[in-house]
Amino acid sequence: MRYQARALLFSLSLPTLALGWGQPHHAITRGALEVLPAWQKDLLGAEFTQLGDSYCMIPDNVFSDKQNARFAKMESAPGEVYLKILHLPTQQPEYLEVMRYFMDLAVKSLRDGRRGDAARYIGTICHQIEDYGSPSHTVPGDNMFTLLQQFLPPTEVMKDQLMHGPIENGDFKVSIAGYSPKLLGTTVNEASWRLMHRVHDEILNARSTTVPIIQSLYAGDQESVVKHQLRAATMDAQVVADAVYTILCLGSEKYSAEEKTSLQQVQFGSFFPLEAASLYYPQQQFYSSPHWSHPRSGVILAGGSKAMPLKLRLASGEKEFANGISAGMGKTLTFLLPKEVYARFTVLAGLHPELGAKGRVEFAVSGDGKPLRTITLNGTDPATLIECDVSGVSQLQLTLTSRGVDSKSNYAIWAEPTLLKP
Ligand SMILES: [Zn+2]
Repeated sequence: MRYQARALLFSLSLPTLALGWGQPHHAITRGALEVLPAWQKDLLGAEFTQLGDSYCMIPDNVFSDKQNARFAKMESAPGEVYLKILHLPTQQPEYLEVMRYFMDLAVKSLRDGRRGDAARYIGTICHQIEDYGSPSHTVPGDNMFTLLQQFLPPTEVMKDQLMHGPIENGDFKVSIAGYSPKLLGTTVNEASWRLMHRVHDEILNARSTTVPIIQSLYAGDQESVVKHQLRAATMDAQVVADAVYTILCLGSEKYSAEEKTSLQQVQFGSFFPLEAASLYYPQQQFYSSPHWSHPRSGVILAGGSKAMPLKLRLASGEKEFANGISAGMGKTLTFLLPKEVYARFTVLAGLHPELGAKGRVEFAVSGDGKPLRTITLNGTDPATLIECDVSGVSQLQLTLTSRGVDSKSNYAIWAEPTLLKP
């Protein structure tokens, strides 16, 4: 009951605040720190326990912990003491900038030998990752679940309960023993961008826990509540581990050759474009040609309903692709690129050999609104490798346009969209 009373108190005194995991922040941070390599634990020294005990709560405690409040403040928002964006995602360009900003400060502090400052900025980053992956922060615009409760009508006991606190709070331990944290980049720009995409997967994972948690709460099944909360918390801890590991590597400029090689290029066919603003395609993203549907990652929908593997005709024969995007005509997909990281973009463009045999499609690649490459392909043409210079580009756009008469056959595929470093 403690968490319910606290949630109620918060909601009365600070009605616009986003709240957050509460006690689980500590559990997730501690679970993440436990898997760091020994040299990083040594590097953090006395700050190691402080991160889990206190610093991961800095963004929630900005009104009471005045000494540390500045570690959760942005220069670009001098009037804002409580930065809502540290607790709830908004738009990709904005929260990417927040991740980049605090990561940069943490890395600079480490390089200047200000370990205490670095650990506090890391605490702020942990908090943001954890809040974005909280089962209570998963429904944009419905932070208290008053809308969702109309879909899932509460029991008599839960009728007047604001659901935010009960959904996320509890007392549990998080262990990700055996997990190896991954390097997200060798620069802050690269690492924060990769972190953002890790966080997107974390948000989707958390979303899958929200309804089961609510149903378990209605049923009074606390064991089941915790089971689903732990599904979210476990992935959150893995992402936090990646972020902290990366920041400490960046601060010490210490990376293995294998890690660097693995970051040389990235295939982004599974990343969310800006059009899927809250990590789902809204209704305005429907396209009617070749069928009534949304862009898909990893599959193409025959007739708008049957998922089939992405396939293209190459000079060597037909080939299936796991990483790629299928989309319809007249729609643009816009991908945010990190600053000064990648130099080249490559993608295989073509029509599905069977579904698209009678189609004719224009594939256009633009950078920040300027055309980089445009080609038109018939359904019987082999797929074409498109290669563009994307140095200095911050938004990459992929657009498909019908150039034939049989628009129902315009089954277009962008296979293995890849960004490469210089
Ligand atoms: Zn929070």
